Amino acid sequence: MGYKCTRCKQMVEIDYEYTGIRCPYCGHRILVKERPTTIKRIKAE
Ligand SMILES: [Zn+2]
Repeated sequence: MGYKCTRCKQMVEIDYEYTGIRCPYCGHRILVKERPTTIKRIKAE
């Protein structure tokens, strides 16, 4: 699962999503989920 640090904007790979998540680069604890570039497209048919 890819996360992105809200402070240093580094991509962080974390296998677990629970408390204890922390940026290994700056130690910041707020990371946001970085979704893979999968864009849902709704076909209007
Ligand atoms: Zn960071």
